[in-house]
Amino acid sequence: MIQLYIPLNFLGVIYREIKQSLADMERLFSLLEQNREVADSPGAQPLRTHGARVAFSHVEFSYDPKRQILFDVDFAIPAGTTTAVVGHSGSGKSTLARLLFRFYDVNKGAISIDGQDIRSVTQASLREHIGIVPQDTVLFNDTIEYNIAYGRPGASREDIIAAARAASIHDFIETLPDGYATMVGERGLKLSGGEKQRVAIARTLLKNPDILIFDEATSALDSKSEQAIQEQLKEIAKNRTTLVIAHRLSTVADAQQIIVLDHGRIVERGTHQSLLAEDGLYKQMWERQQARKEEELGSALEVEEE
Ligand code: ATP
Repeated sequence: MIQLYIPLNFLGVIYREIKQSLADMERLFSLLEQNREVADSPGAQPLRTHGARVAFSHVEFSYDPKRQILFDVDFAIPAGTTTAVVGHSGSGKSTLARLLFRFYDVNKGAISIDGQDIRSVTQASLREHIGIVPQDTVLFNDTIEYNIAYGRPGASREDIIAAARAASIHDFIETLPDGYATMVGERGLKLSGGEKQRVAIARTLLKNPDILIFDEATSALDSKSEQAIQEQLKEIAKNRTTLVIAHRLSTVADAQQIIVLDHGRIVERGTHQSLLAEDGLYKQMWERQQARKEEELGSALEVEEE
């Protein structure tokens, strides 16, 4: 019994950690096959999309009944457009993504895709339609080809290479000793954070989902890497309904809609320009970030002058 308990307990720990961080949810589901907290409703139908408009309607949610996390969250992402969610740490941004992927069910209100409540469709079909680019991609101890193909098992070599090219990682792979057959992961070649994110992007391009969740990395990046991420996001979000969880504000300026969350409530919404004109929380956050950037630039210049 104890022999069975230990691995199960270990899986439970992994499950909780991954679920918390949004990292590689898709991988998690293949490990556990089904989520324990939500189940398909009897008669659940496969999700059918035509553009994939996503709507959060008056959503209320708490992980723990004693502490409500989301209050009357109501917004829609028109088909094929990008909405970014910003807000202080703990405001509930990642929770929105976890709910859209149906890790948990809402307590009140509903989330729907093209008019279908996500509780009424099969979980497998829901997850087929959603691609996630996590903050930190976990690589399998296998070849880089396998790691990309994981987005669509059985994909042809040509499709894998096309996805790698579109994610700007093909040229890098070609420089590796064994090219696409190079072993990566903990026991193989270690890739940098940016390279891993490109693998995640290639995977997602191969999967070709109509809904995308982009979980921006929390760590500060230099402006060159920021720009590279911005360009990749544009590439991958093209014609997809995209939810960007923005931990910094650098990637949101181009979004068609920005939602500002504060303690689980939407307090502002608009575009980068309209929110700056509103003189509210978004503007404060933006100005604080700009000031920080200038400080960093100042200290970098001082170092150079020394
Ligand atoms: P950050 O920018 O720091 O990632 P966030 O805006 O994405 O934050 P969430 O991760 O959505 O915030 O968390 C919102 C709130 O829900 C936080 O107060 C957090 O402590 C709480 N929370 C998150 N996950 C759980 C959980 N599994 N159980 C209980 N509370 C949770």
